[in-house]
Amino acid sequence: MPWQPPVHRPPGWQDKRARDRDYGIHRDKRSLKLMQSGEWRSARKAFLARHRFCIECGEPATVVDHRDPHKGEAAVFWDRSRWQPMCASCHGRKTAVHDGGSGMQGAEGEGGLEPAPNWTEQPVMGFPHPQPK
Ligand SMILES: [Zn+2]
Repeated sequence: MPWQPPVHRPPGWQDKRARDRDYGIHRDKRSLKLMQSGEWRSARKAFLARHRFCIECGEPATVVDHRDPHKGEAAVFWDRSRWQPMCASCHGRKTAVHDGGSGMQGAEGEGGLEPAPNWTEQPVMGFPHPQPK
């Protein structure tokens, strides 16, 4: 992905990407509500009890992944034919590809949280990190 420098705009100006992002936040709230429901917790637990291994790598599955992005749509969210078992790291990789590395990672309930990958150790470009001596 090419990195683009920030473009300065008048106050209040929103580009399409920003509007999409706002929509995304709204959408993720709906997703979050679904995922935080007790119904989902027990449903995913039952699903993982029957589908024990990650479809990607064969490790024990801890995450129920939605094969199609449900975008907070309950009908898609609850369609079990679209569910698949995944381990946290494969799921993290998949959501990183789909969502550009932001947002829903680890949001599918306990066990969905990933250990911090090593690359977070790198300093953010343009922000000098003072080295403790
Ligand atoms: Zn896996």
